[in-house]
Amino acid sequence: MKLKDDIRTQILSKVKKIVVKIGTGVLTTDDGYLDKEQIKNLAGQAVELNKMGYHVVVVSSGAIGSGMGELGIEKRPATLPELQAVAAVGQSKLISMYDDCFKLHGYHAAQILLTREDFEDRQRYLNTCNTIHTLFQLNAIPVVNENDTISVDEIKFGDNDALSALVTNLLNAELLIILSSVDGLYDKFPAGKSKAAVIPMVKNVSDEVRQLAFDLKTKRGVGGMQTKLEAASVVTNAGEAVIIANGRMDGVLKKIVQGEHIGTLFLPKEEKMTSRKRWIGYTIKPKGKVYIDDGAMHALTEKGKSLLASGIVSVEGTFTKGDIITICGKGNGTIVARGLTNYSSEEIEKIKGCSTSHIAKTLGYKLYDEVIHRDNMVIL
Ligand code: GLU
Repeated sequence: MKLKDDIRTQILSKVKKIVVKIGTGVLTTDDGYLDKEQIKNLAGQAVELNKMGYHVVVVSSGAIGSGMGELGIEKRPATLPELQAVAAVGQSKLISMYDDCFKLHGYHAAQILLTREDFEDRQRYLNTCNTIHTLFQLNAIPVVNENDTISVDEIKFGDNDALSALVTNLLNAELLIILSSVDGLYDKFPAGKSKAAVIPMVKNVSDEVRQLAFDLKTKRGVGGMQTKLEAASVVTNAGEAVIIANGRMDGVLKKIVQGEHIGTLFLPKEEKMTSRKRWIGYTIKPKGKVYIDDGAMHALTEKGKSLLASGIVSVEGTFTKGDIITICGKGNGTIVARGLTNYSSEEIEKIKGCSTSHIAKTLGYKLYDEVIHRDNMVIL
C-alpha cells in the first residue's frame, strides 16, 4: 500500500495541466435535467484547482442528456438528425449553466466545440491548442464537447472518453481525470452478489484488464467502462496518467490532486511520446492498412526496426505517400502500429514482399528504403 501511495504522489507531483472529463451520468438528475447543484459543485472544484496553480480543462458531456430533459424526451433518440437537434438544444443550456456556476467565483466558461476534423487538420489542431493555452492566462475554464450538431458518423469521436484522451494528448496534459457514476474499475461485476472492489492501480491496459469493462451504460450517455479503458490506453501509452473516479464523491478533484487513494489510477508508460508521435499514433484517422508477416512483426515490436517492403503481405484501402496507415498482423489482423507511409497503396501493391534492393527495379525508382520509417511509427 505504501509503495502504491508513493507512485501516486510521485506522479501527481509532476502534474501541471489536468483534463477533467465529466460524463452525462454525473451531470444529470434521474429525470434527465441538468443537475445544477452538481455542476455548481464541480465548477467550484475546477476553480479551486485553478487557484492551486493547475491549468484545468473540462471535457463535458451532457448536451444530448440535457436536451432530452428540456424537450421531455424519455428515450435516447436513435437517428443522427434527432440526436443533433437535441444536442443543439442541450448544449446551450449546458454551457450557460457552467458559465453561471463559474461566475460565482469570478470565472468564465469558454465553450470549445470540436469535431474529429479539427484534430485532423494540422492548422485547426494548433489553433485549438493555442486558444486553450491563451484561456489559461485568463480567468476562464475551457469547457470542451464534441460539436454534436454538425458531427456525422464519419467524423465522430464516438464518445467523450475518446475526445478527452485526444484533448489530453493535444495539450500534453500530465493527467486525465475521468469522472463517472462508478467509483473506478471494479475487479468483478459490481451489481453481482459478491462484493466488487475498485482496483486502485492498473499498470497496463491489457486484454485481461479490458475483460473487466462491465457494461453499466446509463440511459442518456454513451460509452461505459470500455471506452474509458480505451481512453486510458491512449493516454498512458503517450506517457501521461489517468484516474477514473466517482464524480459525485465529495471534493473528488481536490482529493485526487492531494494524492488521496480514490478511484483507479492508470500508470503512464515511462517514456513520454513526442507531440508528433501522438499525432501519428492516435489523432489522425488512418487511410488504409498493410498486413505484415511474423518476421516483420518481430522486427517492429521486439527490435524497434522500420517496416520494409519485404515484410508486407497485403494492402487494404487507397492512400498516398505521407498518409497515416495502420500496420496489422497477417494472421488475425491484430493492430500492431500506425505510421506515416513513404509509398502509396498502389506502389506497395507492387513492391510487397520485395527485398529493398529490388524496389528500384520493380517500380523504376526508389523513394526510400523503408515503407514506414521507425521515426514515423507508433507501436500500439
Ligand atoms: N457529446 C455528447 C453529449 O454532450 C456526449 C457523448 C458522451 O457522453 O460520450 O451529449
